[in-house]
Amino acid sequence: MVLVVLGIDALDPELVEPARHPNLALDTHHAIATINSVEGEPSTHELWPTIITGLEPAEHGLTLDDDGVAWENPLLNVGSRLADYVLPDSVQSRLGAWILTNTTADAFRTPASYYAERGIETVFDAFDATTIGIPNYVVDPDETDREHQLRQNMGDLFERDPDAKGGHTSADPVEFYEQCLEMVMIRLARARRHLRGGDSELVFAYTSGLDLVGHIAYDNLGLQREAYDELDDFVGEVRADLDDTDELLLVSDHGLQDGVHTHEAMVAATDEDIIERIESVLDVRAAIEGELTGVDHRPDDRAVERTGSDQGDAVREQLEDLGYM
Ligand SMILES: [Zn+2]
Repeated sequence: MVLVVLGIDALDPELVEPARHPNLALDTHHAIATINSVEGEPSTHELWPTIITGLEPAEHGLTLDDDGVAWENPLLNVGSRLADYVLPDSVQSRLGAWILTNTTADAFRTPASYYAERGIETVFDAFDATTIGIPNYVVDPDETDREHQLRQNMGDLFERDPDAKGGHTSADPVEFYEQCLEMVMIRLARARRHLRGGDSELVFAYTSGLDLVGHIAYDNLGLQREAYDELDDFVGEVRADLDDTDELLLVSDHGLQDGVHTHEAMVAATDEDIIERIESVLDVRAAIEGELTGVDHRPDDRAVERTGSDQGDAVREQLEDLGYM
């Protein structure tokens, strides 16, 4: 009786092929509307707070025009545009490296207390919830996991490049791909652990791996397709761990094609009732709350329950063997 939500950054409704990706399409899926930032494209920094609060970026206050911490930070763009014109190459690349190193460590690290302090409700307030790596909802600022560590140490595997189609280049796209897929695996594994542990009614895990692959795959679309194929396998593993009463919801903040964010996000679910009223990123919170309120997802003692049913099967088999059934 657990609702598992996987927040998959940049999962693009146009790149999910239901026949090829049954676990990304689930039983039902559709494209949803998203919101552009001042930069003109949808922003991870703004949208995950929107998804968990149901509020427009201006209402929750975590917007690109006010904060200096996002990947899509205007500083990064201004810095690199400026560097194009006034700085020699060596200084330019050092500046680029400095900006990257000095912003990734802080990227998306707004503490969860931000919301309560401003009287902003989130989808987690009324439920037993486990949150894993959600951008700008950091429960323990000292906690980092393998995805955080990989993100902070990408070096020349992921560098801003204003001349590149998607604004980024990688010194080694294949090695970068490996690291991004490891990020996806660690976050989905953590979600599975909490699903199996049965300690929460809501498990909400986020990963940025697919987004990162997309940003450098503009000249190697095969890599992006491979990432969708692998992601489908990993989500399938989570899905295989669901019991009859558990549900799975996938949600994204925007799409990503040819190295740049696109203006459509998506939802997919194991139950049509969960997503039928989601038309935009603003509706996700209400949909999760509706599901958790309407259906009892509170933790059960699933270890005991499993042992019980296994024993039941064993007893039934013995009785069958003995000819009583
Ligand atoms: Zn994003």
